[in-house]
Amino acid sequence: MVYKNIMALGYIILDSGKEFIVVSEQKKITAFEYGQFCLSVCNMDYDKTEERVQMYSEKNYEIKDMLSHCINSLYLTWEQANVVIEMIAEEINENGVIVGGVDSLPDIYKNKELRHHIRKLLERDFSVCESEIQSELDSVILNQSIIMFDGVPMTGYFLNTIKDFLIVDVQKFLLSNCVIKECEYCKRLFIPSRKSDKYCRLPNLERLTCGELAHKNRSKTDFERLCDKARPEQRSTLINISTTKKYDVDILQQMYDDWSLECGKQYKKYKAKNDLGGFKKWIEKTKYTPSKIKNEYQKRLKTKENVKR
Ligand SMILES: [Zn+2]
Repeated sequence: MVYKNIMALGYIILDSGKEFIVVSEQKKITAFEYGQFCLSVCNMDYDKTEERVQMYSEKNYEIKDMLSHCINSLYLTWEQANVVIEMIAEEINENGVIVGGVDSLPDIYKNKELRHHIRKLLERDFSVCESEIQSELDSVILNQSIIMFDGVPMTGYFLNTIKDFLIVDVQKFLLSNCVIKECEYCKRLFIPSRKSDKYCRLPNLERLTCGELAHKNRSKTDFERLCDKARPEQRSTLINISTTKKYDVDILQQMYDDWSLECGKQYKKYKAKNDLGGFKKWIEKTKYTPSKIKNEYQKRLKTKENVKR
């Protein structure tokens, strides 16, 4: 057997009975708790990944640099994220794909159905086992062998694709007593520390936990809710895959920042007058449209050029 063929990704995953030990060239690189890897895959935001892969490949980033921006490492330690990035880069390399969009990533990161399937399995909804996806997963032949590590025999898996890791991880997770829940705030999957946990403790962009955010949301005023809805909407109208193709992203960002600052001022002004309707109107009036973006962009470009002269 050709060595390369049985271990295309260059890693062996050892099952210690408590966790997975990732080994390369007979050295321990890092460890994963059962279920940790599949959770990180299920929790990835498909649309954001797509946006980032496209953005960074257009900027001619090296594959690994690009992946480090795209593969959501929020759920993994730095060492674990690095291993995953190496595996993906190796798989892309093996397949000889040119990285352009999310389509060039391995199946587990782009196949929404597969991810939905894994999610259901983790939630122990076994009705999905009748599906075609499950028979495809069952037909994957895993290369495994008993391997001595630190004088202890363990089951070692030679990874051909990163999907092999996902399959083994799901299997081990389902055999464990671990339970997975969906966070009532962010809808991501998490392993609860207590049975009654409703919210995850996964990191958020704001430095608050989901429990704190849920509480804050309950006590929010109508003014705050309007603001919270308008900001991401305006941002995604201004900065998305199609606008960044046409316009310089720094200028778009500046346009958003200026609007957002003004939004904060208007919020205070209307709140002081308790005029919710007026604030709503202001938001509607200042919403960007393709033609407004074009006009404002050209105006800013001209000023920029004038400054240069
Ligand atoms: Zn959450």
